[in-house]
Amino acid sequence: MESIRELYRIGVGPSSSHTMAPKRAAELFLQRHPDGAAYRITLYGSLAATGKGHLTDKAIHATFEGREHEILWKPENRLPLYSNGMLFEVLSDKGRSLDSWKVYSTGGGAILEEGQTPEDKKKTYNSHRMREILEVCQKSGLSFWEYVENAEGKEIWDYLREIWHAMKASIERGLHAEGVIEGGLGIRRQAWAYHQKAFNSAAHLKRQGLIAAYALAVSEENATGGTIVTAPTCGSCGVLPASLYYALHNFNSSEMSILRALATAGLIGNLVKHNASISGAEVGCQGEVGTACSMAAAAATQLLGGTIRQIEYAAEMGLEHNLGLTCDPVEGLVQIPCIERNVFAATQALNSADYAMLSDGSHRISFDDVVSVMKQTGQDLPSLYRETASGGLAKAYRRRKNKEAEAQVRKLTP
Ligand code: SF4
Repeated sequence: MESIRELYRIGVGPSSSHTMAPKRAAELFLQRHPDGAAYRITLYGSLAATGKGHLTDKAIHATFEGREHEILWKPENRLPLYSNGMLFEVLSDKGRSLDSWKVYSTGGGAILEEGQTPEDKKKTYNSHRMREILEVCQKSGLSFWEYVENAEGKEIWDYLREIWHAMKASIERGLHAEGVIEGGLGIRRQAWAYHQKAFNSAAHLKRQGLIAAYALAVSEENATGGTIVTAPTCGSCGVLPASLYYALHNFNSSEMSILRALATAGLIGNLVKHNASISGAEVGCQGEVGTACSMAAAAATQLLGGTIRQIEYAAEMGLEHNLGLTCDPVEGLVQIPCIERNVFAATQALNSADYAMLSDGSHRISFDDVVSVMKQTGQDLPSLYRETASGGLAKAYRRRKNKEAEAQVRKLTP
């Protein structure tokens, strides 16, 4: 498995696969061909289907600003390896293609060139199953965060501190921002109001309200193109920071213990990324918000003083109870159901941690089992539910809008 540095990336929303990765690919292509007369970028599959709502074009235009270029959208075509495919071409002044580059966005902001396999990437971890890691930890007495430190080196703490500060900043910015989120759905930012209400509520409402406010703050920052941390993706970026921020203020947690929890959460996300997928276009939202919930459940259990068995159990529950979660973003925007879904996953993560802490950590379905079931379930999902905005909630919303438009026309027709 790769370093958890490849999982946690500081960047600009709203989508790691549709905004951050295409921007990165465009920058790399431009570095290779700085002097082209013109450029052509073709987007395929899910990237083309929801790229407009996810601001893919904005990210590419910003990179090629001042140079002649065009973007072609081919949602009906899928390149062979992944559903988020891109073809970059450099053109002569007569419009002839001089060189081309096929590249894929594989989730969480990562890119993979054609001809490269995920195995070609630099390996930081020798074990890539929870079963093996548990065995190592049980024999040696190591906790998960110590296991991460051994693999990554002590420098990882500086990196995770930077990640935590970026996460905290996104919560604090989001808690103070108000206004309507761009995109046409008319959704207002709500984090500030939730925080105010939670702050002034009775104890039983306070916990739910604060977690909601923190998750809303980050997800609303993401939806408005603010700076966030992929955890593991942009669309699911509110779950882990919300759980950690709640823990910071309510579990008697120090900054160092939060960094250690981030390390454990990173290990969990890495296992899912390596053995299944964290891309909504590949496996639906279970790979994004489901994985985020699993990471946050593990982190919270560690912060509550759980054993490695209880941490693994919480991570397993966080993913298991999100199995089958579809990706059907309304109008292709990372707003409905994404923003609210982060709130519910953060709450579920903390509930999973409580449940695991009440247990002795024993359970029948292992974390590895649920990761492999998630992968299979994702492959079995029709493409309607894998970030194409053509089924589910996206379809229901469009149908209602069309009916309203027809009714309006009937009303105006004499
Ligand atoms: S529904 Fe889930 S996977 Fe799809 S865009 Fe929203 S957060 Fe990402």
